[in-house]
Amino acid sequence: MPPKRKANATASTDVAPPPAPETKVTRAKRVKIATPATLPSQANTAEMSESEAQPEPPTQLQQSELTASDAVIPTISAIHSNMKFVGPHASAAGGPFNAVSFTTKTAGQCFALFFASQRKWDRPPLTEDAIEKFKKACAANNFDKRHILPHGSYLINLGNPDQEKRSKSLAAFLEDVRLGISLYNFHPGSTVGECTPASSIALIADGMNQAIKTTPDVILVVENMAGQGNVLGGKFSELRQIIDLIKDKSRVGICLDTCHLFAAGYDIRTAEKFDAVMKNFDEVVGLKYLKAMHLNDSMNDLGSGKDRHDFIGKGKIGIEAFRFIMNDDRFNEIPMVLEVPVEPKTEIEMYQREIKLLYSLVGTVPKLNK
Ligand SMILES: [Zn+2]
Ligand SMILES: [Zn+2]
Repeated sequence: MPPKRKANATASTDVAPPPAPETKVTRAKRVKIATPATLPSQANTAEMSESEAQPEPPTQLQQSELTASDAVIPTISAIHSNMKFVGPHASAAGGPFNAVSFTTKTAGQCFALFFASQRKWDRPPLTEDAIEKFKKACAANNFDKRHILPHGSYLINLGNPDQEKRSKSLAAFLEDVRLGISLYNFHPGSTVGECTPASSIALIADGMNQAIKTTPDVILVVENMAGQGNVLGGKFSELRQIIDLIKDKSRVGICLDTCHLFAAGYDIRTAEKFDAVMKNFDEVVGLKYLKAMHLNDSMNDLGSGKDRHDFIGKGKIGIEAFRFIMNDDRFNEIPMVLEVPVEPKTEIEMYQREIKLLYSLVGTVPKLNK
């Protein structure tokens, strides 16, 4: 097990303490920043509509050419006083272990990755060697398993009533969860218009129960969805229905995606409104199930049902929602992953900027009466 990433924080308080002095921050010294010239050419791995994202071409990272920058140090120090773990959806081009160096270059404190192509079924299984290399890279960079949030393929639909298609999904799902990870984030699924939500939910839960039996400890983290079409999981009540059917409740969790929340009609634009949404989440689902966040602004309006991510503070949600997250203890200790529409050539810089922006919100006061 990788060494625990230290948050030398004092007990939780309502108001975040000021950032710790730089001298206390050991991790910042290890942060390396890529210059634009050395950035690998990679496809966008952020979560986007199906037509936009492309499979990732394998590339090698040129670590030797990286230079350190102290531009990110103040943002790093904030985490240690605040217990917030923000990071990128890292590119795993060239192998999952590359996601680790990708993350350190962005100054991320957690990360997500795809273990296999998110849009293709024909995926060569990961070799033991690749898995071992990944685990070693995580340990060497002090990434705790609890802060690594692999994302399942978008093709997986455990809720499909078509037996053949569901078997394919289940096989891919089982393949992913056997990788010795601690969290596994996936989209609950869709009725594809062929059955009732209740029977689709029963199929999803059945697949999850099977996966849980095959592994000793992975927590299956169901993501809330934007509420589009036949897709399940846009409502808290549907997430609850899935959890209700899971036999071992210690093995199920929820990842809240802010863009999806907003698109599904949950207004999180102010601290007050976000607080009310979180209280509702606690009542309907249970706060103890919150295992991860996806931090994304939304290109579309409240209740649009459209899943189009935007940069933090640049979309229809706005910065206040993210200020709320970065200063609220309910979001402590869990991985909070950015899935913003970064450009392949500048993705590291873009993630760096977003991560820095989020940490700069720590300790700041929300604007009232927005
Ligand atoms: Zn997702
Ligand atoms: Zn997401």
